[in-house]
Amino acid sequence: MARKFPLSKIRNIGIMAHIDAGKTTCSERILFYCGRTHKIGEVHDGAAIMDWMDQEQERGITITSAATTAEWKGHQISLIDTPGHVDFTAEVERSLRVLDGAVALFCAVGGVQPQSEQVWRQSEKYSVPKIAFINKMDRVGADFYKVVGRIQSILGANAVPMVIPIGNEDSLRGVVDLVTMKAIIFDEADHGMAFHEEEISEDLQELAQKWRANLVEKSAEQCDDLLERYLEGGELTEEEIRKAVRTATIARKIVPVYCGSAFKNKGVQPMLDGVVSYLPSPEDIAPIIHAKNENIVRHHNETEPFAGLAFKIMSDKHMGKFTYVRIYSGTLNAGDTVYNSVREKVQRIGRLLRMHANRQENIEIAHAGDIVAVVGLSDTRTGDTLCDRNNQIILESIEFPAPVISISIKPETRNDNDKMGEALHRLAEEDPTFIVHFDEETEETIISGMGELHLEVLVERLKREFGVICAVGRPEVAYRETATNKVEGDYKHSKQTGGRGQYGHCYLRLEPTDPGHPFAFVNEVKGGNIPSEFIPAVEKGVIKAMVKGPYAGYPVVDVKVTVYDGSSHDVDSNEFAFIEAARVCFRNLFLKGHPELLEPVMSVEVITPEEYMGGITGSICSRRGRIESMDDQHGQKVVRGMVPLSEMFGYSNDLRTMTSGRGSFTMHFERYETVPFSISEEIIKKRRDANKIR
Ligand code: GDP
Repeated sequence: MARKFPLSKIRNIGIMAHIDAGKTTCSERILFYCGRTHKIGEVHDGAAIMDWMDQEQERGITITSAATTAEWKGHQISLIDTPGHVDFTAEVERSLRVLDGAVALFCAVGGVQPQSEQVWRQSEKYSVPKIAFINKMDRVGADFYKVVGRIQSILGANAVPMVIPIGNEDSLRGVVDLVTMKAIIFDEADHGMAFHEEEISEDLQELAQKWRANLVEKSAEQCDDLLERYLEGGELTEEEIRKAVRTATIARKIVPVYCGSAFKNKGVQPMLDGVVSYLPSPEDIAPIIHAKNENIVRHHNETEPFAGLAFKIMSDKHMGKFTYVRIYSGTLNAGDTVYNSVREKVQRIGRLLRMHANRQENIEIAHAGDIVAVVGLSDTRTGDTLCDRNNQIILESIEFPAPVISISIKPETRNDNDKMGEALHRLAEEDPTFIVHFDEETEETIISGMGELHLEVLVERLKREFGVICAVGRPEVAYRETATNKVEGDYKHSKQTGGRGQYGHCYLRLEPTDPGHPFAFVNEVKGGNIPSEFIPAVEKGVIKAMVKGPYAGYPVVDVKVTVYDGSSHDVDSNEFAFIEAARVCFRNLFLKGHPELLEPVMSVEVITPEEYMGGITGSICSRRGRIESMDDQHGQKVVRGMVPLSEMFGYSNDLRTMTSGRGSFTMHFERYETVPFSISEEIIKKRRDANKIR
């Protein structure tokens, strides 16, 4: 079946925003206009439209899916959900991997807020071309030009207005389109669903001319012959300006800026025009490359072998599990058998679905550039590559940080034990930074995640979506341990208890490695001193010792272990004996290698009125934190620092007290750092008392 939209007319985009900037409202408007393009200007019964929207909202089906597909002026737009909260960094990273362009949303009053800045930087890391939408232009204190300046100064982006507002705050009526030089007025009478064009009013002429000149100059700058003509006084056509803006946006040389009020239905449609005119189609994106072999490449077209990335797993009460897949090349048919090249498993595609704002559409075939939901992938996890079995490729997986905080959890009623287990399993499948494990020694279920808020949200979901009410323990920091010195030595596990004995003997060398290389195992045994069939047992023994580290019972990271000699016995050597020899050998060496405890350190950002600054900086320092910067932002102070996670428990309460509720803070995991010796001694003592280490 031929595709409905040519590749050049596909836009896979995300909306990136600080929480509260209006992402939900804006996404709803986009989907609404997209579903209704043919009706705009035709329907005069505004109330009916609002009714439809209210119903949609009540049923909450508008943007709950990971990717919602809609149409705008002959283009297929897939809106990929990006979360606004930094605690869920992994979610942001994952969506950035599969989208081709983004709309960065800013509040016309708040401007570039700290979280917008962080998400912006993440998107730069993935080279995502962007346009900006300055929302909430109807609010008191809205200042379009100031926010444009902020995008330039704080984010260092070449922000180029494509429109300027007509009116401001209460009197916002529409925008001037600086390409066509027409005023677009949104009609109040029709709930702003409809709009009309008119000439630019006298009083705005001068300002519009000035910004038009800016637009032409900035876009021409990116194109030598246009610039030459422009400098010689020649006018550029609309067509030429659009083309230059498109090229420059995709090359990430400029960021076109739009504005309006999603809430008041003003200015969203011109921004949608911007999405289709200036953001890239899959054709404009570099081909994808095999993660381990740069000679294997797939271009974004449907004639190449199939390759796609599973980027999100979601459960639905009725349908079961959906896996969202971005197709990079080739086609995918319902009923196809594909290959999961990461897990080396054949997977059958059950149903294929395209998610729309208000319905799920069963489709038979999907093409390169599409984002679809697949039902029936049993062994596929987030970040896995799916491909043609005869033309295998592994795409760079999405990197997820290891969880930094744990709590024990148990259902309030005993009968809910199984239900809780099942629900936790489902949630962990959806979210790779959420890990569940059962601690055999304490007989507790432990859940781990990226922050207190992350775990709170998951416990809340257990209750709302699965009906399991749980009691949780105190949050605990996920410490790690490592050795800092190189040491070597041997251990012989030898037992003679009549009959057949046990004999395993190995020499190990233990060395620290750079952070981020959790574990490497190397075999340098010569001459079969340890028969090759027992080498895997040596590795197993080392890993066994690393799970609960010898120093404080936390997982061991950042070490390299080399087995370089040993001996064996013809009769008494077996797998178990070598596992034991390696386990004890590693334990002994590790304790000699100057072990250290590592702790997660968070980057913390506090926003506060100036009068509380002294208290805030004091609170960071007294929590073993370091202040990194202090800035002014919109009349407030922004304090950034690094603080160990263990010291941040209960900070939101303290901050509330300190600032009479006027300060706010966000934090996210930055890296693991060494715990000062005196503190690690205390932690170890406590664990010993609680019998968590032998
Ligand atoms: P999100 O947290 O980014 O998803 O933001 P929401 O869409 O939930 O919006 C947060 C709040 O801002 C809600 O109360 C919205 O009604 C309001 N809001 C969203 N867009 C606008 C706008 O354009 N103007 C005004 N005045 N309020 C808006």
